[in-house]
Amino acid sequence: MAEGDTIHRAAGRLREALEGRYVRAAETPNPRSGLGSRVEAMNGRRVESVEARGKNLLLHFDEDLVLHSHLGMNGSWHVYPLRGRWRKPRGAAWLVLSTKSSQAVQFGGPTLSLMRESELARHPRLARLGPDILDPGFDATAGVEALRRAEPGRQLGDALLDQRLISGVGNIFKSEGCFAAGIDPWRTLGDIGDDELTRVVAETEALMRAGLEARRSDRQVYKRAKLPCPRCGAPLRARRQGDDARTTFWCGRCQR
Ligand SMILES: [Zn+2]
Repeated sequence: MAEGDTIHRAAGRLREALEGRYVRAAETPNPRSGLGSRVEAMNGRRVESVEARGKNLLLHFDEDLVLHSHLGMNGSWHVYPLRGRWRKPRGAAWLVLSTKSSQAVQFGGPTLSLMRESELARHPRLARLGPDILDPGFDATAGVEALRRAEPGRQLGDALLDQRLISGVGNIFKSEGCFAAGIDPWRTLGDIGDDELTRVVAETEALMRAGLEARRSDRQVYKRAKLPCPRCGAPLRARRQGDDARTTFWCGRCQR
């Protein structure tokens, strides 16, 4: 699952390949993209900017056109030099944007849609996103304020995934952030003081920024159920949490 750090990294690569350049060909080798003949609207358009917003990527073109991409569980963006060798079959590509020097390719992913800038402001998901944890202007105080807007009976681990509160955090960093802060993800927001909540937000942000810069940091608890806790040695636990039943990993002994 692509979380905010992966999306911001992809945005960086796409920015380098596409920003300020003209699309010479826009193609959808795999019909599952759902773009159909609308893909042609990107032909000849200039890419004005590439934006990461939480777990969403937005490609802004001239002529008021925006491409919204969400990679979901298994989508990815690759950038190749023109006529370079691909790491996946062409038939698996949902979208290929070619400029005079490179190709940006999206493989898989549940969302790929074209809209007008004005539609963006009314988009049911995009318009309601909370502050992006990897936005340069984000700080832990803003994150705490955002979480305090949720119902106080919600569990921390569940609230951290709600993109309307804070955007960009996914299942890995939800578990890792709570572990780094030493806070039990099953506690309700109303039961967690501002100092503790600040610590959770700050630790999650720090881990994600490290992920953004260094590509990868070692997982302490994610997918490590039954293995010893790196801090206290107790066996780590895993259980589904929230309405979407996303698995939370934590230490039942040292996270309080
Ligand atoms: Zn522990």
